[in-house]
Amino acid sequence: QVVTRFAPSPTGFLHIGGARTALFNWLYARHHGGKALLRIEDTDRKRSNQEAIDAILDGLDWLCLDYDEPPVFQSERAVRHAEVAAELLASGNAYKCYATPEELEAMREEQRAKKLPLRYDGRWRDRDPADAPDDAPYVIRLKTPTEGELVIEDRVQGRVAVKNAEIDDYILLRGDGTPTYMLAVVVDDHDMGVTHIVRGDDHLNNAFRQLPIYHAMGWKEPVYAHIPLIHGNDGAKLSKRHGAMGVDAYRDELGILPEALFNYLLRLGWGYGDQEEFTREEAIAAFTLEGVGKSPSRFDMKKLLSMNGNYIRTADNARLAELAAAEIGPQADVALLTEAMPVLKTRARDLHELADGAAFLFKTRPLAMNEAAAALLTDDAKALLGEVSARLKAEQHWTTEALEANLKAYAEEQGLGLGKLAQPLRAALTGQTTSPGIFDVLALLGREESLARIDAQAL
Ligand code: GLU
Repeated sequence: QVVTRFAPSPTGFLHIGGARTALFNWLYARHHGGKALLRIEDTDRKRSNQEAIDAILDGLDWLCLDYDEPPVFQSERAVRHAEVAAELLASGNAYKCYATPEELEAMREEQRAKKLPLRYDGRWRDRDPADAPDDAPYVIRLKTPTEGELVIEDRVQGRVAVKNAEIDDYILLRGDGTPTYMLAVVVDDHDMGVTHIVRGDDHLNNAFRQLPIYHAMGWKEPVYAHIPLIHGNDGAKLSKRHGAMGVDAYRDELGILPEALFNYLLRLGWGYGDQEEFTREEAIAAFTLEGVGKSPSRFDMKKLLSMNGNYIRTADNARLAELAAAEIGPQADVALLTEAMPVLKTRARDLHELADGAAFLFKTRPLAMNEAAAALLTDDAKALLGEVSARLKAEQHWTTEALEANLKAYAEEQGLGLGKLAQPLRAALTGQTTSPGIFDVLALLGREESLARIDAQAL
């Protein structure tokens, strides 16, 4: 059975790269009918906090990535980590190192002077612990192989080899008995039964340090898939200015729908022919690691927004009405918004635009006018509005079609372009110079409200 895990360190928010890693792991597990697990790597107590944990859980929930077991908190497993360190010690695969910090600093100083890589030189590897002074503090280090090479058949990167001599005897358990990250990850992945580790390629080097623990413990190696990081659209490392924000900011600040972000992240570094849009079911059916590219993907905000617009156009009207109402405020009427949605949703790329486009429905009289709209309401325009008002008062059928037929006929009779009529009408009805089609605006506002708004401006 395939078991994957997403293992975020809760040091901030669920950023876009983390969300994509979570998505790929989730899809891989679902595709194979396996298990998707979540582990919160909260061992760095100074940097992790509850707020960050909540932000991650909230972000995953919003993207509808569900997990098959409750999250594992790494910090709660320190006893088990120490137990494995003790086992490695007992089996001769780890050893106690009594080197003092001063000694290690002197060692590094020398390495620096000789321009050698800075690494522990194995000075306690073969030494008799009896040489250490009584009660001297020690750390436990892994006895890594020194000969040969370690090969990973990475499912994304291909075959990668590193000489064992390059891997130092790193620390498993610190002097205070706490586990290092390297030990904790391996023990947790093993105990959780993780078979496939899909994560950013910034962890590829760690894999070469983690595998020797699997070997020393006689555990089955996991399959690795190290996915390229996300870059900005200029090719530089992704930063805030490119959109490296928390998933919550995509929702709250940018007004993105979760299914749009889901689909966008799916296509970021993964391809399936030239299909761009996938439902969740299609994504699960199609997702394999073979489709993950080897080069960094570029984050393209324009593409995300255009995809979001597509999702808004096909989203359920009542759901969109709820989302827009939450932004507009208590004056919003969900029933009216639902009715207006077919017209409103064709114009919006994000939920803020959707809410802005709907705001005219809930304005109170006297209508607030923006400058551009006020400028359109010249005396001539106001006189025209007076005539239009009289004509509309006689209209029996207050529907988009009837209103369109009526006003088009009027414009023709008067030898006016429709724009000449629509512009001041729009200004009077919405207080803005942009809005949905003017006949839709009239129909949605209804007879009474439309005429009141027009008459307020008419001469
Ligand atoms: N906690 C690590 C991170 O957030 C991931 C560790 C792993 O996937 O092995 O970068």
